[in-house]
Amino acid sequence: MELLNVSKLSKEFGGVKAVQDIDIVIEENEITGIIGPNGAGKTTFFNLLTGIYSPTSGEITYNLEEEVKSRQLKPQRMARYGIARTFQNIRLFKEMTVFDNVLLGYHSNMNYGVLSSILRLPSYFTGEKQASDKVTELLRIFNLLEKKNEKARNLSYGDQRKVEIARALASDPKVLLLDEPAAGMNPNETNELTKLIRWVKDEFGLTIVLIEHDMSLVMKLCDKIFVFDYGHLIAEGNPESIQNNEKVIKAYLGGDYVAQAK
Ligand code: ADP
Ligand code: MG
Repeated sequence: MELLNVSKLSKEFGGVKAVQDIDIVIEENEITGIIGPNGAGKTTFFNLLTGIYSPTSGEITYNLEEEVKSRQLKPQRMARYGIARTFQNIRLFKEMTVFDNVLLGYHSNMNYGVLSSILRLPSYFTGEKQASDKVTELLRIFNLLEKKNEKARNLSYGDQRKVEIARALASDPKVLLLDEPAAGMNPNETNELTKLIRWVKDEFGLTIVLIEHDMSLVMKLCDKIFVFDYGHLIAEGNPESIQNNEKVIKAYLGGDYVAQAK
């Protein structure tokens, strides 16, 4: 089933055409990859999907609740309607514990504003068993339970990325958008993350869209890949067709991509 339909989507910043005339359909329960050189418009595309930016022109239609379809939602409210994301530049509360960071994701799904959650933590919310069970389960899945009382700032970069994904999952989303989830990870961490993404997708019945430069992760995980270049969609297809696409090799993958992908 079609979960998201993007039609003739464009975004300009002054003279910069960051996203130009993009048509994309995203299917439910698939993992979709967005790849392309730096500056190609990938993050801007996510910011349009989550309502952080409004399009210069074009349409975004989610097959979710009416409120999302209308695109009038504030980004912090998107999570309540089933869309959660992580950021290219990790956005954790570095002085808060790992546990509390993930707990915030849980509460972004409720009627409390994120701010009031912060102000009332930890005394009020940690008393809520349902929330704490959910956070504990996620931390166990991400192999972070032993670090739950550490401040986020003390974790490795790879672990911080996992905390961000756990936080996004805590809101119980239908759609998970990951902006360069493996950035800064070593090959072992990337390998572990690849398996985790597949596992949580099946376990929680998610639709996942991910932006990533690590081709081993992209080619192993994605059902379908879209390639951006200078704001344009230059190719789409399954991993095999993308790896063999001349335009993509020229614009992005280059001569040694096969070695990278192994
Ligand atoms: P990618 O994520 O593919 O590396 P981005 O979407 O971050 O690319 O950026 C695409 C282009 O849009 C770049 O030229 C970038 O400088 C520009 N851009 C992105 N966000 C803004 C903004 N808020 N204001 C002005 N220019 C922006
Ligand atoms: Mg980006």
